[in-house]
Amino acid sequence: MTRVLTPLQDKTLAVLRRSGEPVVFDRAFVDELVADVREAFDHFAERLERHPDRLFVSKHRLSSVLGCEAQAMAPDDFAWSPATATGQVSHRAIQLLVNWRGEPTPVDLVDEAMARLADDDHSLGGWIAGLSPGDESDLRGGAVERVTRFMEGFPPLDRRAHPMTEARVQWPMDGAVVMSGKVDLVIGRPHGHESTKLIIDLKTGWRSPRHRDDLRFYALVETLRTGVPPRKVASYYLDVGEADVEDVTEGVLRSTARRTLDAIDTYVALTLGEREPVKRPSRACTWCPLLADCAEGTAHLAVGE
Ligand code: SF4
Repeated sequence: MTRVLTPLQDKTLAVLRRSGEPVVFDRAFVDELVADVREAFDHFAERLERHPDRLFVSKHRLSSVLGCEAQAMAPDDFAWSPATATGQVSHRAIQLLVNWRGEPTPVDLVDEAMARLADDDHSLGGWIAGLSPGDESDLRGGAVERVTRFMEGFPPLDRRAHPMTEARVQWPMDGAVVMSGKVDLVIGRPHGHESTKLIIDLKTGWRSPRHRDDLRFYALVETLRTGVPPRKVASYYLDVGEADVEDVTEGVLRSTARRTLDAIDTYVALTLGEREPVKRPSRACTWCPLLADCAEGTAHLAVGE
């Protein structure tokens, strides 16, 4: 049966689909990029020789270290709430949608996702299993809204394109420093050295330059991991049904490698106590857990009022 696409789905398909000549990166460029990053990681490993723990570097760690270093190195006080869990539940529901037989509704998918997550042996599962009726309703409502928006704006995923949701990426396999993350959606069947993959982050709320930086980080990790860069990266904004798409190029990968290595260099220095963290006041001071004791952040916010 041929599916009839909504205007939003048509628009999304038009900006994401492959067009023109196949994209194939120069092998020498990719080899050189991988060698440069590996060499930098060898230096990090030497510096961290006596450090007991492996450093995990995520997209959040990178952007936080490049922002206010004091906030980046503060103890993590993350706690689950309906707001923080909505993304996880909706992504799990979209994961189910990809392989579901028949025509599930967003509520079917979210209920099944919540039941499966509640059975999982991790902090989110335990939190979902013990939800109060009010928080459960909030969580379900938020996740149903996201899945509904995804289904009305994103074209149905063709299984022949090997769609993966919540796809884990990591490089290297082990060592003193490991870059890792979970990509919301990856589409594209591998084909030799051709760049076929499209990496997508699903977003709610406003656009932010940080979103592109996050996707470029994933593009770099994918390139290091497989030796084949993705062809495009995209933030898909669920509220408006629009995709912000960027072609992956040699320039994008080079500048991302530079930014990433600079951030890891800083993270290693701060972890080893080689210098004091620098405070960089910004709008982020508003929700910083250190604000009460931070004169710089307090002064910055006072000027803005
Ligand atoms: S309040 Fe602002 S300047 Fe102070 S630590 Fe937090 S983010 Fe940094």
